Amino acid sequence: MKIVEIHVYSHDLPVRDGPYRIASSTVWSLQSTILKLVTDNGLVGWGETCPVGPTYQPQHALGAVAALSEMAPGLLGADLTHPLALRRMMDGLLCGHNYAKAAVDIAAHDLLGRHYGVRVADLLGGAATDRVPSYYATGIGEPDEIARIAADKVDGGFPRLQIKIGNRPVDLDIETVRKVWERVGGRGIRLAIDGNRSLPARDVLRLSRECPDIPFVLEQPTNTLEEIAAIRDRIHHGIYLDENGEDLSVVLRAVGQGLCDGFGMKVTRIGGLQAMATFRDICEARSLPHTCDDSWGGDIIAAACTQIGATVQPRLCEGVWIAAPYIDRHYDAENGIRIEDGHIRLPSGPGLGIVPDEGLFGSPVASFG
Ligand SMILES: [Mg+2]
Repeated sequence: MKIVEIHVYSHDLPVRDGPYRIASSTVWSLQSTILKLVTDNGLVGWGETCPVGPTYQPQHALGAVAALSEMAPGLLGADLTHPLALRRMMDGLLCGHNYAKAAVDIAAHDLLGRHYGVRVADLLGGAATDRVPSYYATGIGEPDEIARIAADKVDGGFPRLQIKIGNRPVDLDIETVRKVWERVGGRGIRLAIDGNRSLPARDVLRLSRECPDIPFVLEQPTNTLEEIAAIRDRIHHGIYLDENGEDLSVVLRAVGQGLCDGFGMKVTRIGGLQAMATFRDICEARSLPHTCDDSWGGDIIAAACTQIGATVQPRLCEGVWIAAPYIDRHYDAENGIRIEDGHIRLPSGPGLGIVPDEGLFGSPVASFG
């Protein structure tokens, strides 16, 4: 099963009721990069990568198009039946740029699943559940409003919430966390407080010290791993890494040195489903909980996150965040990935389990083969 055509599309995803505001970005619309692979046996597979703006991580939409265009001529003719070999081939064509390679990896898994007539979750070790927990992430906002949204989402069935903080006086963040907990504490939900790299160590220490009774985990509070290492022993809450988990090497360092208690992990940042399965197994070996997300994206990314999320040991699965609640339209009107009662049903069809309506994407911005 060899690649005979590669098509790259750019597709805008406006934020419903935007903007979406986190410490490192305020976004009204995201440009998603969509990849279509066609094989010599007539199958089609889809991949996607969508950084949440150019300042969340060192990744951006134009970079994805450029990296895919750089690799594409060398990928024509590649055999897709061995995802690990494909990964090594991509590393031989371009250094780094995991988030672009992830689009190829996701499309290759979609194709493999269709070729064998199985779900991507089956290729990744097998699903532990067909109903994957999700979680809701609030943007940054006024304490009372965020507490209202938090209560509303718990009423809607979400088993976990993530509250965004940062880039403002920490007193407001502390007030937000306390007001959220007043509304949702005692209801059995899990809570993550996400600083998106923005907090000075001083403010992280205050937040932890002034909320000793609230059982949240602190997600990526500071910009660097070094800052986290410096204050880790003085914090009484669990620490999760997100943006700092740039690749498997950093993950190994963080796990080996005990720098974190879990991860918010992005499928595209780490290089796709092949690398994500390795990450999942490292976490399971150390009983470290983690999410299976991406920073943004439509049904292709949402399906990829749900497929790998279904394979995670349930006691370690912190959920699959998808951007669907912020996007008005699905790529696949019938089987698009939706959240119901705070959970996502694993699609039953082969591959990713969705088939995008490619008419939505317009003409490719680059085509090869
Ligand atoms: Mg995060």
